[in-house]
Parts: sequence; C-alpha cells; structure tokens
Amino acid sequence: MESIFSPIKHLFTNLFSMDVPLEKRITHAMLLCAMFGTFFGFIESFVLHLPIIAEILPLILFFLLLGFSFWGFYTQRVELFGLVSISVIGFIVFPLMFLANDGMHGGMIFYFVIAPVCISLVLKGKTRLIIFIAIMAEYAVLFVFYKTAPQYFLRMTDKTAFIDQLCSMVITSLILFSFSYSVAHQNSHDRETIEKLSKMYEKQANTDELTGLYNRRYFNNFLKLAINTLGDSGNLHVAMLDIDDFKVVNDKYGHPFGDTVLQRFAEILRKTESEGATACRYGGEEFLLLIPKKDRDEALLIVEKIIEATWAQIQIGDNGFVTASAGFITCTEDMSYDALLQEVDNRLYAAKAAGKNRVVSA
Ligand code: GH3
Ligand code: MG
Ligand code: MG
Repeated sequence: MESIFSPIKHLFTNLFSMDVPLEKRITHAMLLCAMFGTFFGFIESFVLHLPIIAEILPLILFFLLLGFSFWGFYTQRVELFGLVSISVIGFIVFPLMFLANDGMHGGMIFYFVIAPVCISLVLKGKTRLIIFIAIMAEYAVLFVFYKTAPQYFLRMTDKTAFIDQLCSMVITSLILFSFSYSVAHQNSHDRETIEKLSKMYEKQANTDELTGLYNRRYFNNFLKLAINTLGDSGNLHVAMLDIDDFKVVNDKYGHPFGDTVLQRFAEILRKTESEGATACRYGGEEFLLLIPKKDRDEALLIVEKIIEATWAQIQIGDNGFVTASAGFITCTEDMSYDALLQEVDNRLYAAKAAGKNRVVSA
C-alpha cells in the first residue's frame, strides 16, 4: 500500500509545499494539467462522436505524458524536465490536437495561451526567450496552415465546435487561475519569510547572546542618537556598572556559575526597562544603562536600587553575595559621546577606589 501511495504523496508535496521552488511546482502542475487535458480530450471526442483519430490521439498523448510525469517526479533535474515537457506539449501535442480538433474552429487556441505562461514561469534565461519565440512562430505557421489548407484538419460541426470551445475556455481559465494563485500565494509566503528572517538577524546582530541585553554595537548608536536629541535637556543620564571582584567569583565557583551571575545581573537591569531605561552589556562584566526623560534624582535612585538589588538578590555560597559598582553621569550641553563615556568610566573607577558596592555621581 505504501508503494502505491508514495508517488501520490510525492506529487502532492511537490505541488503544494511552499518549501518546494515555484518552478518545480508549476512544472509538475503543468504536466498534470496536460495529462488531464488530453484525457479529457479523449472523453470529449468520444462523447461528441468525433473521428476515431481524434479519440486515439489524446489517449496516446495522455500515456506519453503519464510516462513523462513519472520520469519527472523521480528526477531532480527540474530545468531539463520543464524544458522537455514544454517542448513535447508545445511542439508535438498542440499541433496534433490542433489538426484533430478543427484548428481555429475548435477550442485548441484557448490552450495555446497556457504555453507562454508556462514558458515564463518554468524556463530561465535565453532558453525561455528562444522557446517563446519558437512557440509564437509555430502558432503563426499553424494559423496560416489552417487558413490556407483547412481540408487537412478534422472538421467539427458548429455545435460540436461550440461545445469544444466552451470546455477549452473553462479548463484554460481554471489552469491559469491556479497557476496565478500559486505564484501570488508563494510570493506573499516568501515575503513573510524574508521579513521574519531579517527581523531575527537584526535582533541577533544587536543582542548579547548570554544575557539577552542589547550589545555594545547597538548601544553605541542608540547613545549617539540620544545625545543628539536629548543631550542638552538635562534629562539624559548614563550609568556604567561593573560587577565587583568578578574574577574571584569565576575562580572560586567556576566560569559557568559566573555566567549565571551575569544573567541574573542582566535580569535586574532589564527590570528598569519599565522605567524607560535601556540596558546593554558593554563587554565582560561591564554594563551600561541609559536613562532618558527623568530628572537627575529619579535616575540616580534607579541606579542605587540596582546596586542594592544586586547584593540582596544574587547570593553566592551560604553567606556571600555579589556586589556591583557604578559611575553615574547626567549629560550636559556640549558633552560629546567620547567625553561622556570617559567621565562615567572615571566615576566607576572612583566607586571602585572608594570601596566598591556603591554609585559615584560626581
Ligand atoms: P573589579 O572589582 O575591580 O571590577 O574586579 P574584577 O575581578 O571584577 O575585574 P577584572 O576586570 O579583573 O575581571 C573581570 C573578569 O570577568 C575576568 C573575566 O574572566 C570575566 N569575564 C568576562 N566575560 C565573562 C563571561 O562572559 N563569563 C564569565 N563567567 N566571566 C567573564
Ligand atoms: Mg569587575
Ligand atoms: Mg571590569
């Protein structure tokens, strides 16, 4: 049972999966449509009591295309498969059916429209242009042939031709609709995927992997922008924070534990986002916090609370705790980005020198 269903499953995957390239999907759909078209042609000729050749011909073509589709499903050479299918359908099936179905009096000309659409969707580069021109030339020859020597065409009564045209028009419309729908659907799916990926890559490029905070690259740009827009308002504050004696923590409890400490410290920093602050891991165990749109006392309080929360919340061993120090600065008029970072670093150094576990703001 598995072996009977696996080609069908394979076919459906190739037709409907968005992960299969569009050219491949359309190539399989094209051949499937051609198979159904020829089979339908056989039924129609039979029901309309057309001459025996008009019944046999589509049936033979149906089996030819069936063999083809098996080859197509199992080959990975989609381009070759597409080229061969289009050539056989366009240059053999179409002219024979044109002769067997009363040329322009029947419905074949509707099917002719499908060929340029398939050529544009399935083929590439020069091949696409060459086959398109060849098909157009072939159509021209066939039309002239029909006009000048209609006696070589199998004739239909007006009523039969009308039914043939009607059926061909409906089938062509359905085929072209499904092709266009696939293209439009795939297009919007691809666009969504690209948007999702680019957002993901953007986030990755701006985020520190260990802590999930912004990284130095993002923060530098963000800080420059903040200085340009808020720098002279007296409402832009920056804190540089550094974990105290972190080397000892690493040496005593191991690097993985050190990583956990960094993550827990980052969690404390992230809580300040609710107050409008933005935190970043500037490198190693050094962090920066940007606090805009607050007055100086409010901003300083936020940093003092971080220092407090660190020793209160990040315990190590039974009695020990982690502490952090910070330099704090309010951006003043004319202060450049470099001067700001230099000064806040000096203040952090002063906090270390004064015994750590504190904020120095002047
Ligand atoms: P101070 O109180 O003066 O800041 O001393 P300190 O030991 O914290 O500072 P120092 O600059 O001497 O050491 C920082 C340590 O941080 C050294 C380095 O191995 C460690 N470190 C840097 N990045 C990471 C990391 O991603 N994970 C871990 N576990 N440790 C890190
Ligand atoms: Mg340190
Ligand atoms: Mg340090």
